[in-house]
Amino acid sequence: MSKTHALKNYLPVKFESGPQANDQRLATIKALRKRRPTDLSRTHSMWVARILGKCSKARPCKVEACPRCRRVYRKSFVKAFLKSELQHAIWTRVSIIPDGLLFPEGELKNANLKAIIKRLNKNIQRSNLADAIIIGGIDISLNVFENDVQGWQLHLYFLINRPLTNTLKTSINDAFNKGADKSFSFKEIKSDKQTPLQKHIGRALTYVYKNGFNRRSSYYEARLKRDGSPRINVRSLPLKAHQLAELSSWLGKYSVGDRLFLRNIKRLRAAPLSMKFSLQSALIKQSLSPQKRE
Ligand SMILES: [Zn+2]
Repeated sequence: MSKTHALKNYLPVKFESGPQANDQRLATIKALRKRRPTDLSRTHSMWVARILGKCSKARPCKVEACPRCRRVYRKSFVKAFLKSELQHAIWTRVSIIPDGLLFPEGELKNANLKAIIKRLNKNIQRSNLADAIIIGGIDISLNVFENDVQGWQLHLYFLINRPLTNTLKTSINDAFNKGADKSFSFKEIKSDKQTPLQKHIGRALTYVYKNGFNRRSSYYEARLKRDGSPRINVRSLPLKAHQLAELSSWLGKYSVGDRLFLRNIKRLRAAPLSMKFSLQSALIKQSLSPQKRE
């Protein structure tokens, strides 16, 4: 990797340190062990706690519930992107909340991550974005409105190698049948006065595959908008121990990296069972500018 591509130029300032990820692993184990004996998921939670407890640098557990393994995986992921030609393509980042991905608290176990990813991929397959390169991931938050827990909201965040145009917006709207729904956001990734391109890319990639999950608490502000309509504010709060346990128990069913949503792009492991990999896309040449294609 050349100097300008050094990983640290890309990773956000707040990217978790090794000790922070390890503390988070210990907090997760503690939360998992606290599950009540009456809880039907207790046996599975204790099993996940045991696996996370055995995780070490030399023998990583490679489970999606493990903050330490997620950190290693995220770094491999950003590195793989930087080593590939993908970094020379144009990217727009998209955040969407597809229908049917809200699960009541206590029922996250009913969410089938692999089936969800398959379904979202099918949505794109049927649209005119079938040949786009997509690097995305499933994020999850516990949504709360005015202190009422709404449930676990899964949502999709991805980079697509298309410039931000109205055509792109329409295609994504059509793919997910959303009409003019507000639960979309789009932004083309490019440098600006404050932030160089690398930081924007690093921020987007580390957001694609996140390592922290929150309670997303929305509430009415006392102050109304100028037109008299209510003003809604959102706060990001840490999950409570039993919520972290429910989430980690569910994530414990999957391997690290299973939350990624990739299209027209392959992850090739450096060695069997390794968390190091490369990203390859047969379509990347077509999407680069003529100078970069050589
Ligand atoms: Zn681990």
